[in-house]
Amino acid sequence: MIYLSPPHMSGNEKRLVMEAFDSNWIAPLGPQVKAFEKEMAEYVNTKGALALNSGTAAIHLALKLLNVGRGDTVFCSSLTFVASANPILYLGAEPVFIDSEPSSWNMSANALKRAFINATKSGNMPKAVIIVNIYGQSADMDSLLSICNYYNVPVIEDAAESLGATYKGKVSGTFGEFGVYSFNGNKIITTSGGGMLVSNDLDALERARYMATQARDPALHYQHSKIGYNYRLSNILAAIGRAQLKVLMERITSRRQIFNKYYTELHNIKGIKFMPEAAYGRSTRWLTALTIDENHSGVTSTEIVEFLLSQNVEARPVWKPLHLQPLFKNCAYYSHSNENVSEKLFTKGVCLPSGSSLLKEEQERVIKCFLNALGI
Ligand SMILES: *Cc1c(COP(=O)(O)O)cnc(C)c1O
Repeated sequence: MIYLSPPHMSGNEKRLVMEAFDSNWIAPLGPQVKAFEKEMAEYVNTKGALALNSGTAAIHLALKLLNVGRGDTVFCSSLTFVASANPILYLGAEPVFIDSEPSSWNMSANALKRAFINATKSGNMPKAVIIVNIYGQSADMDSLLSICNYYNVPVIEDAAESLGATYKGKVSGTFGEFGVYSFNGNKIITTSGGGMLVSNDLDALERARYMATQARDPALHYQHSKIGYNYRLSNILAAIGRAQLKVLMERITSRRQIFNKYYTELHNIKGIKFMPEAAYGRSTRWLTALTIDENHSGVTSTEIVEFLLSQNVEARPVWKPLHLQPLFKNCAYYSHSNENVSEKLFTKGVCLPSGSSLLKEEQERVIKCFLNALGI
């Protein structure tokens, strides 16, 4: 089986994990966690970072820090993984979903503007906006942030899929009040499971640290005055993360090379369009994504994904937009224009195996199967 995006160890993880074992810092927290936080903050260039046991936990805490609670509204990209919006529900708040733009597949400024105009009319302003950067590419932060700043609403950047990408030379995930990364097994670097919350607001990060550690008050006995969570990353997993962070640049280079190979081999086929790379930044090409127009190819994206799976090649459809998910069926949604971009991308989109450890022969097999699926 050729997997979509499997973990790719550098070889140095074991040494750092052994360090943790040798010092018996198995848990809780410990020096590897501290070092991982410091190295992440340095890499992304924020004042601080908080290591957590998932990216979802990081989004949950960011929403808590922005005082999102029962009955509040939060705007969120629709074309994303469910983890972007689940924490909104944890807090009893309500998501309003925003469509994508065709040029980056990320949040549409048009749709966001209309959502804000309507919110102003109804007097139901959102407490926060979650802007997601999908498949390794930053959203158009300047145009989105200028709208959010105009309405004075803070932004959480879900950069779970875009660690290492840049926007106008600055690292993706550092544009909002809070940035969120994930080290889940399928991400560009992994700790097997984990996440990071980054910010320039060190006080806020301290409050998040407190909430993530069962909200334990500074007292000798166990004293608690607020709801807490058990969200910290273990020292062992942080050791893996430190070794992974060191090879992030190489991982990006590999993923971009994999994209380029797919592009070279497939872009001339009628009806196929690759996810564009917006001129404002550099994508990591975490996943190579493309769309197939059935009218030209005679084959649907679903048929292609199914055929590839039958050949032991793990391809996937593009994210099903959250406003189409049964879980969110009563939530409001703003489309880009008359054009419903995220729905179109979902209907036509395919993600191809893009792991940085993908061998040349393996990629050739994927390409061959893909062509077979199209009857070429
Ligand atoms: C993976 C992912 C998350 C969640 O990260 P976990 O670490 O798995 O909790 C959130 N948002 C997006 C867009 C993701 O792809």
